[in-house]
Amino acid sequence: MITVEHVNKRYDDFTALDDLNIIVPSGSLTALLGPSGSGKSTLLRSIAGLEHPDSGTITIAGRDITGVPPQQRGIGFVFQHYAAFTHMTVRENVAFGLTIRKQPKKQIAAKVDDLLGVVGLGGFQDRYPAQLSGGQRQRMALARALAIDPQVLLLDEPFGALDAKVREELRRWLRRLHREMHVTTVLVTHDQREALDVADRIAVLNTGRIEQVGSPADLYDRP
Ligand code: ADP
Ligand code: ADP
Repeated sequence: MITVEHVNKRYDDFTALDDLNIIVPSGSLTALLGPSGSGKSTLLRSIAGLEHPDSGTITIAGRDITGVPPQQRGIGFVFQHYAAFTHMTVRENVAFGLTIRKQPKKQIAAKVDDLLGVVGLGGFQDRYPAQLSGGQRQRMALARALAIDPQVLLLDEPFGALDAKVREELRRWLRRLHREMHVTTVLVTHDQREALDVADRIAVLNTGRIEQVGSPADLYDRP
């Protein structure tokens, strides 16, 4: 579970997060939905430790993470534009987080093969990122983020740069991944349809505050 309590963040005279409170339940796939500039990325980056709130408290699994560096927060992060290591193969990219943690080679290889299978890149391990499509690259990014067994998976508009058809396909992958791995996931999106399609909880942001939070059925009357 992630708790965000009374978090404020200002940039000069602009309030990006305004006394914001939210609870992300363990194992949920929670979407942060809201218009551009509503503070979604700032909130996600604050959870990741890439941004530092001016005040307030964020906990992950009961631990106050103020001052804890990003790499010690047990987080996997996927951005809209994935910064893959271009000179490394798909396998090496996915293994990266494990390699720097000096896990045994055999263990890494088994884990990476497993994850590449889960994201449907089983036959692509020896390719380079430039030889993948945009959708395949984002699936590689998901596998890489999951390789370290994160407590929390943070996704910032991960499908935003892809065309509609690939986006739809990636949503299906994400749902499947979440069903199989049960990692507590927070997805930033400005696309209501995406939130409705993949999330089991939706938090609607506006001007740095949570306006509503609930299940898709609670928030939107859908047949
Ligand atoms: P969203 O993800 O909902 O589009 P953001 O969290 O990226 O919103 O940004 C919220 C507001 O804070 C925006 O108006 C943005 O321009 C501003 N902002 C974000 N980061 C910075 C920064 N580093 N410096 C100044 N303003 C920023
Ligand atoms: P996205 O919404 O695609 O995640 P953003 O527009 O939020 O991208 O911003 C990307 C980066 O630029 C972030 O590091 C953010 O903090 C910074 N940023 C956003 N808005 C501003 C701004 N008005 N001034 C300075 N930096 C900004």
